Amino acid sequence: MIFETHCHLNDDAFKDDLDEVLLRAKNNNVTSMCIIAWDKESSINAINICKKYQDCGINLYPVVGLHPENVKDEEDLELNWLEDLINNNKICAIGEIGLDLYWDKTYLDKQIYFFNKQIQLAKKYDLPIIIHSREATQLTYDILKEHQDVKGIYHCYSGSVEMAKLITNLGYKLGIGGVLTFKNSHLYEVVDALDITSFVTETDCPYLTPAPNRGKRNEPAYLVYIVEKMAEIKKMQIDEISDILYQNAKEILRIRDYEEKN
Ligand SMILES: [Zn+2]
Repeated sequence: MIFETHCHLNDDAFKDDLDEVLLRAKNNNVTSMCIIAWDKESSINAINICKKYQDCGINLYPVVGLHPENVKDEEDLELNWLEDLINNNKICAIGEIGLDLYWDKTYLDKQIYFFNKQIQLAKKYDLPIIIHSREATQLTYDILKEHQDVKGIYHCYSGSVEMAKLITNLGYKLGIGGVLTFKNSHLYEVVDALDITSFVTETDCPYLTPAPNRGKRNEPAYLVYIVEKMAEIKKMQIDEISDILYQNAKEILRIRDYEEKN
């Protein structure tokens, strides 16, 4: 069994063939999935998709939140829309939230403000968080360190072995996806150096398609390539490593607590 901890099936890229995408995922042993939002509309879409496809044979978990690249246009400084969604729906986690200084550093203050705001909401509603951090690893770490009562997944980890150890010591799991299969990637060093209990699997689809499908739209069925690569690096059997990675995801996302909610 494979746990897809980070996909954007709420993206327009999937609007025409979501049924087939879910079926291919199921046929490739993907049995649980988090659908991750980036703003208000995608949060509502994540919730709606999880409801609409609740009998598709895959456990679907909505994750709602405001991505750092979307803070620019956010006018609701209290994020009342987000709190309303959390209050009125069964929500698995808050995400993806964090800092992104890759394209634009202009809104750093606003990014930090909304990152902190959503961490506070995670505390208030006792939810895990899904972290997005690009070109901002140290700053992200410093903020997470201030809030050690919150835990979650550090999505698409791409930093050093040393930083990976610091982040996992805070109780976070590192999301590993298609980048692991890229020839120029150093991510294998991180996977090699840390214990397998530090990781969860993700695609970030429609982005970051793993080899051998680079260039195509990514989708959850391709997680098999990530698991294969991890098994190769860790010198473990695919079944054995899949089980551990699945349990890692269930634990950090606190799926048992989620199931008990009304
Ligand atoms: Zn994402």
